[in-house]
Amino acid sequence: MIIKSSEFIKSSSVTKDCPENNFPEFAFIGRSNVGKSSLINMITQKKKLAKISGNPGKTLLINHFFINKRWYLVDLPGYGYAKISKKEIKKIEYIITDYFVNRNKINLTFLLIDIRHEPQKIDIEFMKWLFNNNIIFKIIFTKEDKLKSTQRYEMGDRYIDNISKKIKIFPEFIISSSKTKKGRDEILNFIYANL
Ligand code: GDP
Repeated sequence: MIIKSSEFIKSSSVTKDCPENNFPEFAFIGRSNVGKSSLINMITQKKKLAKISGNPGKTLLINHFFINKRWYLVDLPGYGYAKISKKEIKKIEYIITDYFVNRNKINLTFLLIDIRHEPQKIDIEFMKWLFNNNIIFKIIFTKEDKLKSTQRYEMGDRYIDNISKKIKIFPEFIISSSKTKKGRDEILNFIYANL
């Protein structure tokens, strides 16, 4: 899939400041360090479109990128930082919930999960919240290159099995790696099928 243009439009700290537009919007969210910036750069084939996070405190913003002049890729703040204050955690929670509740343009949300990890409480709670608020999401497992090829699908299936036992939802998933570009076509085909 060719991405002819990807432009950074703006960063917003609240939903009401997000760009006015009539284009479909696809949101990307996950715990800090899950590989979100790397994935966005991999999808758009731009090395520095999304910053590879160095400083968690600097990413408390909603970033809008306009892709192929047809759709918006939205980079939401990462959640679950270990090293930030309670006040900042509350702020991130507010930004994320405000976006999902008040932004009426979201076509689909991609929830990123590091494929190496067992389901974490914070991710499960977030999935439950998305589900209860009727927000459609698909999981993207990241960093699959860090697992042996025989383990990849096994880990993905095991993860879904685990969460479905806990919260009775069965999200679809895509397995990806920013290093090998695995999953890129699948993610883009999925987006283009839902434009
Ligand atoms: P973010 O905080 O979610 O935006 O995560 P980053 O994109 O900044 O990535 C966090 C760390 O994981 C960085 O050191 C990346 O180089 C590394 N990383 C991200 N994606 C991958 C991947 O697919 N494979 C491997 N091996 N490392 C990755």
